[in-house]
Amino acid sequence: MPATTGARRAALFFCKACMRKDILVALSFFNHHKTKRLHLMFGDSGIVALMKLWAYCAEHCPTGEVSRFDEIEWKLATGLDENCLEFVEALCSPAISFVDVKNSNKYIHDWEEHNGWVFHSSTRKKIAQKAASAKWGSTGSKNKLNRSQRMSDAKKKGNHSQIEWEEMRDFFKICVKCCGDSGLTELDRDHIIPLYKGGSHGLDNIQPLCAKCNSSKGWDTTDYRLIFCTSRNIKMPAKWVRSAGVNCNKTPAPSPSPIPSPIPSPKSKALSGKPDEIPYQEIIEYLNTKTGKSYRATSADTREHIAARWKEGATLAEFKKAIDNMTAKWMKDPEMCQYLRPATLFARGKFDGYVNQVLSKKVSEGVFL
Ligand SMILES: [Zn+2]
Repeated sequence: MPATTGARRAALFFCKACMRKDILVALSFFNHHKTKRLHLMFGDSGIVALMKLWAYCAEHCPTGEVSRFDEIEWKLATGLDENCLEFVEALCSPAISFVDVKNSNKYIHDWEEHNGWVFHSSTRKKIAQKAASAKWGSTGSKNKLNRSQRMSDAKKKGNHSQIEWEEMRDFFKICVKCCGDSGLTELDRDHIIPLYKGGSHGLDNIQPLCAKCNSSKGWDTTDYRLIFCTSRNIKMPAKWVRSAGVNCNKTPAPSPSPIPSPIPSPKSKALSGKPDEIPYQEIIEYLNTKTGKSYRATSADTREHIAARWKEGATLAEFKKAIDNMTAKWMKDPEMCQYLRPATLFARGKFDGYVNQVLSKKVSEGVFL
């Protein structure tokens, strides 16, 4: 019989190694014929020994393979002494088979099926390490900046005073993400682009969120202030609007800009007289400013879409028109606002329609930043 056989299970024991503090045991365990047989042979101590074995495996061999066990380890795992080997022999017997024997290897019966969380703990650990590495740049503590270091870096890029924060908080009054739905009235300063991603501490990168929204936003870098203002037809003070750069910097960051300099600026195009230079950056900056998103002008996919439309004869004004039109139409729509992205807006067969979109009077009169 496996560690669990039914849908209803009871949690027992805990395991530090796999971060799981229990294993699962079927509620039908005590009435199972294999359990009864084991009990007849070894009494209560046999049942306790089996549970000890499961807990030991969860902690020391989460895949459930016990092939390596010698007599001492069997004793350690089961808590039995004199009749330990007899007990193991019973566990491996076809009539009881709490331990499966395959090609002279031994496994806890159906361990993966019934204690999958424990079984896959090492895989989860690797995934968690990979995610942490992606988030922090390294899982090693050497390279991991602590929050105060990151804050120090962020303040070099942009800063604000307590009074300035209070001014913003009083302007919005409620969480700009859930608009007060969480029921939490206290507002936290959320960094729109998180500090670990190089965001600044300037007010153009700060939005008031409730604790619930703040803790659940994850990788989201949406500027919810813009959506908030758009949906209420109010204008956010210009000093809080994110500058078109990637990191909302008010003062230049000491590190090189993530956007390579060879990207032509629209001014250089106008002055240089080279009509083929495509204003990737201006288009994406315009889109980011309108939507509060953080698309990169260096993205190959984004450049491909822009370049294709540009070669078809689209102008900078038309790109902006498409962004204006579709922002006006989709920004308030929680379903559609996700499509305010280069791949959709500048898509072949769609772009012309977006440029020439006829908006209703109500939509076109909305205030967009
Ligand atoms: Zn909220």
